[in-house]
Amino acid sequence: MKFNQPLGGNEMPRFAGPVTMMRLPSATSAEGLDAAFVGVPMDIGASHRSGTRFGPRQIRAESAMLRPYNMATKVSPFDHMHVADMGDIAINTFNLEKSVGLIEAGISKIVNAGAVPMTLGGDHTLTLPALRAVAKHHGPVGLVHVDAHADINDHMFGEAIAHGTPFRRAFEEGLLDSERVIQIGLRGTGYADDDFDWPREQGFRVVTAEECWHKSLTPLMAEVRAQMGSGPVYLTYDIDSLDPAFAPGTGTLEIGGLTTIQALEIIRGLRGVNLVGADLVEVSPPYDMAGATALIGANLLYEMLCVLPKVVAAT
Ligand code: MN
Ligand code: MN
Repeated sequence: MKFNQPLGGNEMPRFAGPVTMMRLPSATSAEGLDAAFVGVPMDIGASHRSGTRFGPRQIRAESAMLRPYNMATKVSPFDHMHVADMGDIAINTFNLEKSVGLIEAGISKIVNAGAVPMTLGGDHTLTLPALRAVAKHHGPVGLVHVDAHADINDHMFGEAIAHGTPFRRAFEEGLLDSERVIQIGLRGTGYADDDFDWPREQGFRVVTAEECWHKSLTPLMAEVRAQMGSGPVYLTYDIDSLDPAFAPGTGTLEIGGLTTIQALEIIRGLRGVNLVGADLVEVSPPYDMAGATALIGANLLYEMLCVLPKVVAAT
């Protein structure tokens, strides 16, 4: 079987042609796909700077640079998986609650077709409906959450659903296997000393940014693989986990963050984990003057593709 291939730079200049993720073919249905990229052009859940509604489009534009073969890990995902770009979910930009329902419905279609949803955000609110869709199919999932923030607020400005609450809600709704949850990269200023205690009290492992400073995260990822075991795992990657020196194009910046090298170590370290869904959130193109934040996002999504179980099983 011949799988979908990205349009090559010798067939059409990289700055031209259709703007799909990695210049893959578009698809209107996930039937027959192994993995599906889908955009959630949303920023109405963001608490500070907006602009993530433009994230999916810009990640796709910057993904034009990506070639199919991973020179470091020797993996060629498109030789082993049928992948396409499903376009964007038509959210209701005037209503966050309705948008959350629309996102769950859109991602459920992908999951129910047997494909792994790979979501381009969009603000981090989208991970709650994504987890609802994935957990409905697979049961409670392990979670690898990379972020400057814990996103476990009970409420934001009185609202239960916003980009700072998804993991509190996901826990309450029983979507998470709480012994298999890790949050990596947390840092910054808080409201009180106990801000990161709630996740620990639920059994989550919390690894602050300070614990990651000046070192390789490859040893940590061996521990993560052991923690995750063979059960289903969802990966959610907030681009603000990275230091603003690398990824300034986002809404809620915190200094002292991860490096792009550590980001690669985290994702490559998930090889062998049973990933059933992933997202890359919080890219805000209006604040991304050199386009580097969206480019990093595109690369990290590609690296996620390279560690999906079907690719790992074949290589
Ligand atoms: Mn977040
Ligand atoms: Mn964040």
